[in-house]
Amino acid sequence: MPVICADGIVTRYANYRENDRILSIFTIDYGRMDVKARGCRKPQSPLVNVCQPFVFGQFEIFSGKERSVVNACEIKETFYPIREDYERFSIGSVMLRLTHDAAMENEPNKPLFSLLYHALSFLAYGTSAPKDLLCCFLVRYLNATGYRPAITTCAQCGRDIRGDAVVRFLPRGGAACSACSQYGEPISKTALEGMRRMLIMEDDEMDRVKLSDSVRKEILHHLSAYTSASLEYGMRALSILESNIVPPSTTPMEEGNSDA
Ligand SMILES: [Zn+2]
Repeated sequence: MPVICADGIVTRYANYRENDRILSIFTIDYGRMDVKARGCRKPQSPLVNVCQPFVFGQFEIFSGKERSVVNACEIKETFYPIREDYERFSIGSVMLRLTHDAAMENEPNKPLFSLLYHALSFLAYGTSAPKDLLCCFLVRYLNATGYRPAITTCAQCGRDIRGDAVVRFLPRGGAACSACSQYGEPISKTALEGMRRMLIMEDDEMDRVKLSDSVRKEILHHLSAYTSASLEYGMRALSILESNIVPPSTTPMEEGNSDA
């Protein structure tokens, strides 16, 4: 059977039979891979720490006739602090879910991978507010998946709206001038400028975003409405923020090499 080595982040799992899991891994080179992890729920399995959401590693995968099977993994990063804080965990889960839903098999999306990797790194180890990272992730995610909202020009007439006194933000399309739309909620210049800046920065600058409470609230509100209306899976992913999910484990996982 052919063996491939793929660097990727576990975005989801589903338990299967007594001790197995189906893992979804968002890989750099192959896009999303759904693979079987046999025996990974047995405490003594070398895969027990690998088959968890957020784990970034190099996976050794046998591609069989039917579903591929993960044989071993060298863990590079677990982003463990995300599991120790309820807000970070729910925001990280939204990031994983949105990435999972956008990722296609055999379709690598390196900008999206880089975005997820950096967002999880800052969420785990950075100093910025988790909700600021979510704002930044959302606008950059929409861009990386081809759904960037209009921010600088009107979504309908294409005119530059940076000098306009009143701009509205439509859940489908984004910013619109008042001549084009009397509907949709107004959005402040500060919020639009914030989104513009978050869009043009590099992934490794994401922790520089510092929003005021009111601007953060405004951006989150508009981007959530936009994501829910524009992506068929957007609302379901964002509903994680309102659900009461708790981190699955409060005991530290063993770090390090988990090769079989
Ligand atoms: Zn217009």
